Amino acid sequence: MSFADYENYEELKADKEAYREYFLSVYRHSLAHVLAKAVMEVFGREETQIAIGPQIGDGAYYDFMLPRNVTAEDFPVIENKMREILKRRETWSVKEVSKDEAREIFKDQKYKLELIRDLPEDARITVYYTGDDYVDLCRGPHILNSQELMNTAFQIKSVSGSYWRGDEKNDQLQRIYIYAFPNKDELKAHLAFIKEAMERDHKKIGPEQELFMFDETAPGMPYWLPRGFKMYNAILEFWRKLHEAHGYQEILCPVINHKRLWETSGHWGHYKENMFLVTNADVDEETGEEKINTDIEYAIKPMNCPNAINVYKNGLHSYKELPIRYSETQVIHRREKSGELNGLFRVQMFHQDDDHTFLMEDQIEEEIGDIMDIAKYIYETFGLTYSAELSTRPDDFMGAPELWDAAEASLKRILDKKYGEGNYEINEGDGAFYGPKIDLKMKDCIGREWQMGTIQLDFQLPLNFDLKYVSQDGSLKRPVMIHRAIFGSFERFIGILIENFKGSFPFWMSPVQVGIVPIREQHNEYAKEVLEVLRDAGIRAEVNLAEDNMKNKIKHFKQLKFPYVLVLGDQEAENKTVSVNIRGNKQLHGISLAKFAEAAARLNKTYQLELPETEEDFQ
Ligand SMILES: [Zn+2]
Ligand SMILES: [Zn+2]
Repeated sequence: MSFADYENYEELKADKEAYREYFLSVYRHSLAHVLAKAVMEVFGREETQIAIGPQIGDGAYYDFMLPRNVTAEDFPVIENKMREILKRRETWSVKEVSKDEAREIFKDQKYKLELIRDLPEDARITVYYTGDDYVDLCRGPHILNSQELMNTAFQIKSVSGSYWRGDEKNDQLQRIYIYAFPNKDELKAHLAFIKEAMERDHKKIGPEQELFMFDETAPGMPYWLPRGFKMYNAILEFWRKLHEAHGYQEILCPVINHKRLWETSGHWGHYKENMFLVTNADVDEETGEEKINTDIEYAIKPMNCPNAINVYKNGLHSYKELPIRYSETQVIHRREKSGELNGLFRVQMFHQDDDHTFLMEDQIEEEIGDIMDIAKYIYETFGLTYSAELSTRPDDFMGAPELWDAAEASLKRILDKKYGEGNYEINEGDGAFYGPKIDLKMKDCIGREWQMGTIQLDFQLPLNFDLKYVSQDGSLKRPVMIHRAIFGSFERFIGILIENFKGSFPFWMSPVQVGIVPIREQHNEYAKEVLEVLRDAGIRAEVNLAEDNMKNKIKHFKQLKFPYVLVLGDQEAENKTVSVNIRGNKQLHGISLAKFAEAAARLNKTYQLELPETEEDFQ
């Protein structure tokens, strides 16, 4: 949108949604200017270098070079200065200038000068004035007078380090973020949402519950701690059972392959920058001199596909065997920029719930239908709602366009059948380079959307690897391939589950399901007996035999969000019963130990979401 559209906004106003979007971005962007003007006034005009300040999802930010670090104590000072500036009701004016004029206007602002330098000689440069003492280099559009912003609500969110132009070789700047909304209520609602999201943050809950950790020697590569790995395995077992029932066969392949494999698969050409390459060193035995071989011959797998193909090629398959489904959940590695790593959500090492299916063209529809059924069952088991999106041919596609058209048409037919015509989104041009795909997105309980599963059709790799099957008439034909994952990766999926359940997991997947608390030392023997009974029933339990008082022990397990804490005293030991504390709240007394173990074992088989909490549940 241009400045002219803004002056002419009656038309825009009629479209409520567009109007809101437009003003949100204009307000936010204009507030970034006000932020910069305020910072200049607070820190001194001569000592402030301003870089850039775009609007973002929930507000805006501006990058500065300042004489000292901005701290939380500066926030109210800057915010008050911003309000003061708005009250001046200054006029905003735009001026079109030449490159030379722009250089003169920004002669004391080195970052602006650099931006101007990079513009073409004949560029149409616009500068925006807020009053007559603040000017910014900008494309606009902006408000016409500061008073338009008087009713908006804003608040400084944070300050963090950033690099000029995002390059760590450049100056380090300070980035001040603000939340900005059209009114106080919207800001308040957003702050409440942020607070809720922070309490659910898997990067907070994960270490608190001792589920996973990271070490700086392996950036973006999670370590699963004993408790976390128990949960990981419970989810893997659930996944395994389900897929075995649907005719999937699990395989285990090498992690490192010669680049020949990646050249054939096309990864070497299209994906190399995301792969960890393997170099090695020769050491001269006499001189001890090391020589690193720079001819890279091996790479760590970023995907499982080519190895699944190797397994397929191990024998000649008949049409009667198809579809053949090779699943693999072993480790893969992908390089990411260090700034993009984010807990379990953006990692460099992970495990996909991956599968590669080889089938005949006329089996596609039924097979994708079956995958959709698996996905539905999985997401429902975790209480997640989801929707499907179809992504079509991107610009850098491999293979023949008519193969793509056929593939896209069959995916559309399947989606129409499963969700009803038009009840799914189509992302034009967003497919993988080797085929169209269906993405499954879920919503968590606070309304955030996550990309989860993906089902990709592939006509290309079977061609690259010259795959065959013996058809009914005895001739050799080429199979089609499907790549699919429902969780996406175990790591990311578990991160999402941690946030969705806020660390209070359904019983069957809880890292530890039962905590055992003997009231006094003389109850330790019975506590050990209870532990053994539960372990025999396949329940994940921990006992606290420390010389601490009962309340502290219960509190500790409560903080770890164990579903059940069993409290054991004289009566329990004598009658072989347990007192059950449910999620640190409700308490049931005199439950038979045998019945409790039976009921808990049943929960491990039914995968139910709700935690039983009445006496009848344990009878
Ligand atoms: Zn601007
Ligand atoms: Zn694959």
